[in-house]
Amino acid sequence: MMFRQLFDATSFTYSYLLASRPGGEALIIDPVIDNVDRYLQLLDELDLSLIKAIDTHCHADHITGLGKLRDVTRCITVMGRESSVDVVSMRVDEGDSIDIENICLQVLHTPGHTDDSYCFVMEDRIFTGDTLLIRGTGRTDFQQGNSHDAYQSLFTKVLKLPAETLVYPGHDYKGATVSTIGEEKAFNPRLQVSSANEYADIMDNLNLPNPKLMDEAVPANQTIGFSAEDPNVADCTLSIEETAERMGQSDTLFIDLREENERRRDGFIAGSIHAPYATIADSIKPGGLLGAMAAQTGKRLLLYCAFGERSALALGMLRDAGLTNACHMGGGIDAWTRAGRKLEHTELSL
Ligand code: FE
Repeated sequence: MMFRQLFDATSFTYSYLLASRPGGEALIIDPVIDNVDRYLQLLDELDLSLIKAIDTHCHADHITGLGKLRDVTRCITVMGRESSVDVVSMRVDEGDSIDIENICLQVLHTPGHTDDSYCFVMEDRIFTGDTLLIRGTGRTDFQQGNSHDAYQSLFTKVLKLPAETLVYPGHDYKGATVSTIGEEKAFNPRLQVSSANEYADIMDNLNLPNPKLMDEAVPANQTIGFSAEDPNVADCTLSIEETAERMGQSDTLFIDLREENERRRDGFIAGSIHAPYATIADSIKPGGLLGAMAAQTGKRLLLYCAFGERSALALGMLRDAGLTNACHMGGGIDAWTRAGRKLEHTELSL
C-alpha cells in the first residue's frame, strides 16, 4: 500500500493520500486548497490517478481542496449525508464503504465535533478527522456540534475498535503524527470520564476562541459544487421533466454513472445501463462500452449520477472523446427523488 501523511503548516491539518500500487488509483482525505499543487505534483511523481477526494466534515479552519482537485482531475468528491455543502459527487452514511482499486474505507458516522463528522476505517487504521485527536478531541461548540453526540460517537464507535488500531487524526498542533486506540483510551485526558454528562461538562466549558479563518472557511466550504457555467454543459442539461419524458424512448440510452453500492442503496432509473464514472475514461475509448454503444446504435446517451456533478464532468470527457450526442440529468437522482419520481430497486441483468 502507498500511504502519505501530508501536513498543512498554516492550519495544522493532516491530509492523507492512499493508493494500492504505483500507476493505480488514489484517494485523498481532507485536502487543503493551498496545497493542491503539491498534491498534484505528488500524484504525478507517484504515477497515480486521483479517483476520490473526501472530507471528514465541513472544516472551519481551512478551505477544502475538494473543488479544486475535482476541477483539475475530474475526481469524485465525497462527503457525509448530513453535510451542508451545495454539491458533492457522492454522499456516504454509516455502514457505506468508499472504494477505489484494492482499497476500501468503511464509513462511520461520528457526529459531535460537527453533525457531518465521519471517520473512515481501513484495515489496521482509522482516519478520525476531528472526532478523535492525539491526546485531545474535536471541539463541539460550533457547526451543529454536540458534546453528548461526541461522547456517543467516541465511546460506542471509535473506541470500540481493537486497541492496536492506528489513529490518524485530522490535525495535530504539537507535531504528533499517529497514535493507537489503546494509547488514546489510556492517556487521552478527555477520555478519562465515566459518563456522557461528565464528558459534556469538559467540552461545554472549554471557552475556545473561534478559528481565525472560520468566517471565510465555512461559507467557502459550503459552496464547492461544480459550476456548470460551461455553455456546452448547460445546453446539454435536462430537467427532471425532460428526463422523464425520455424514458422508454427508443432513441435514448439511460446511463447510470454511480457505483454499485449507491445503486443498491438508493435505487436506479428503470432500464438504465450501469457504467461507473470511475471507469468512464476506458468506457468511452474506441471499443469501450459507451463508445461502442454510441457508435453502433446512434442513440443519444442520457447520463445521470447522484447529484449531477459526475454526469456534468463526464459530458466534458465525452465531448473531448468526440461523443457529442449526449446529455445529462441536472441534479441527479437526488433531484429525481425530490420530484417524486420512482426508482427501481431490483437489479436487472442487462
Ligand atoms: Fe474541524
